[in-house]
Amino acid sequence: MYQPKTEMETTILKKIWLSPPHMGGNERAYVNDAFETNWIAPLGPNVHEFENAIEQYVGSGVHAACLTSGTGAIHLGLQLLGVGIGDEVLCQSFTFAASANPITYLGAFPIFIDSEKDTWNICPNLLEDAIKDRLAIGKKPKAIVAVHLYGMPYKVNEVHAVAQKYGIPVLEDSAEALGSTYHGQHCGSFGDISILSFNGNKIITTSGGGALLCKDENLKNKAVFLATQARDNSPHYQHSQIGYNYRMSNVLAGIGIGQMEVLEERVAARRANFEYYVENLSHISEISFAKESAESFSNRWLTCILTPSFQIREKIRTALEKENIESRPLWKPMHMQPVFEKSPSYVNGISEDLFEKGLCLPSGSSMEEGDLERICDIIKSVLR
Ligand SMILES: *Cc1c(COP(=O)(O)O)cnc(C)c1O
Repeated sequence: MYQPKTEMETTILKKIWLSPPHMGGNERAYVNDAFETNWIAPLGPNVHEFENAIEQYVGSGVHAACLTSGTGAIHLGLQLLGVGIGDEVLCQSFTFAASANPITYLGAFPIFIDSEKDTWNICPNLLEDAIKDRLAIGKKPKAIVAVHLYGMPYKVNEVHAVAQKYGIPVLEDSAEALGSTYHGQHCGSFGDISILSFNGNKIITTSGGGALLCKDENLKNKAVFLATQARDNSPHYQHSQIGYNYRMSNVLAGIGIGQMEVLEERVAARRANFEYYVENLSHISEISFAKESAESFSNRWLTCILTPSFQIREKIRTALEKENIESRPLWKPMHMQPVFEKSPSYVNGISEDLFEKGLCLPSGSSMEEGDLERICDIIKSVLR
């Protein structure tokens, strides 16, 4: 039976989301521009302005192509790196499924690589083992998908040294890491091709959207060409290649321009959330956090904690759930997913352990100190 909550209960149980969208204020004005100029299309001035803002921010001479999603950007990116039917692609196992799914769209096969302990991302040693192993059976991997998970940069120098040694291109999945840096250089600028996501839960959002980044302007132009149905240059509609409808809408790009204006504030707010959790929880022996190394700066998209066991992790998660607070276990590794059951994998137990014991805490940039206090109080009371 439906029972309306009293005003008291509603305020006590205010929902806290894991990572909700957070508008800056100017987004509507740019969306309005799109309406007033009638650029209600997957092209237009907002798309170019958004791309310029991304290029300025990420730096290192990258060119950006804004697309409908990060997943679409990975799909196009892998195709541009030459991945095709029957090829093998080495992919970080500890990630969201969207890092791996596009490999299969191309008729290629993912081979999953486990993580190292420091950053929780693709292990360079295991990566090299896997490459040697694939070469020994006569199959040179076509590409490597490396991910800066939760905003924490992967070991860029080590991973790219292995990639270079064997001449295999890297697709840098920076979907969660806009605003993170490695040796002062922005994530999104390290891959042969890199991608960003502007999905609703990411550090900035266009509701749905993504971008493909690369240093070669011709490659960017190719991405745009394929993303707009691969139309040859001719007055009639002529096609010599299979294309996609992957270009970002000019309306949504308006949201993106507004979001870029506040990106630095969003990074600062997420990092402040992390600091608050560390200050208030790190004295508890059951809780630990992933630390930045000297060379890395994380946008702290999501604050993650590690607990000693699945049972304690679940105790915390369910206690938060009862109080209307969303938290989420760390990503389930791809090599453990039913859908990738038959895919080869090179594992060391690290990502399985993280999945079992880790939890993402609410990390939105619009959270208030009272929200953080409420979350920490619940966690402390569970572990008392
Ligand atoms: C969100 C995400 C993607 C996919 O981006 P969409 O824009 O949602 O398609 C890919 N990889 C990682 C690691 C992500 O977190």
